[in-house]
Amino acid sequence: MRKLPLIVGIGEDGKIVPIRRAKSGLKCRCFCPGCGAALSAKKGKVNAHHFAHHGAGECPGGIESGLHRFAKAVLHHHSCLLMPPVLVHQLTRHVRGPSLFKYHKTSEEVGIKGFVADVLLYGKEKLVVELKVSHAVDSLKERAFIRAGIPSLEIDVLAIFRELVNESRGQDTKELARRIINFGGRDRGRAVHGRWLFNPLQHQFEYRRRKTSKQLKVKHSEWRGYHHFRTIGCPCPRRQRFHGGDNWSGSYARTYQDCIGCPHLVEMVYDNAWVGYQWTPVRVKAVLCGWSGATP
Ligand SMILES: [Zn+2]
Repeated sequence: MRKLPLIVGIGEDGKIVPIRRAKSGLKCRCFCPGCGAALSAKKGKVNAHHFAHHGAGECPGGIESGLHRFAKAVLHHHSCLLMPPVLVHQLTRHVRGPSLFKYHKTSEEVGIKGFVADVLLYGKEKLVVELKVSHAVDSLKERAFIRAGIPSLEIDVLAIFRELVNESRGQDTKELARRIINFGGRDRGRAVHGRWLFNPLQHQFEYRRRKTSKQLKVKHSEWRGYHHFRTIGCPCPRRQRFHGGDNWSGSYARTYQDCIGCPHLVEMVYDNAWVGYQWTPVRVKAVLCGWSGATP
């Protein structure tokens, strides 16, 4: 893996200076966004252009905070952001495809339920954008966004930058900006460059799916020491040929082989027993099947 270069410095006016616009050497008059040391712009012919600390060791914090500042500025200077598709638990099709979010105003470091959101975009509705430059969003923060009910998106700026560096285009801040605003800029916004932390659409859909799902009974049998679990009345056409037979009326699916991993499975319902001083699920008794329910 290549070493990530420092491509953003802080100018004397406190504004960010991408390497593309910096003058060569100490004439760039820039400082490290992490440690504040003076930077010298290396704009030679051999190596990719980057900033180096002048007379001081490199600091990893500089790259991170530089990327963070840069990404915030990118969001501020644009007015349209590509959002990734909204996916539903276990389903491969999405509820909503990649779409554009138009906004007219941004604010940075906004307090939401005791946490600080990196950027808040104001469009028709609000959108929280978290910028991942080192660690991911912690789950407490994620839950705060859920409670606030605001759609929240995490963009993995570090992964986007790393990809660019691996393509030997690390100094290309224009392309970096384009990819940040386009959610990675390829794969039509697949989850590799971030994810939805919270999207109300997804939850509405999951809720509806659960409400409209059918509970199918699971029958257990034992034959020569082997246990069999069958989900009775599986509606999948592929399973319709397994019907009738000895004791089974109607179609069935093998609960463990077929239902687990089936995109229509909403939940396995277990019988609970008081085991080891606690209620423990011991045997599957039914399957919540979303076959007839809402589909995207
Ligand atoms: Zn530094």
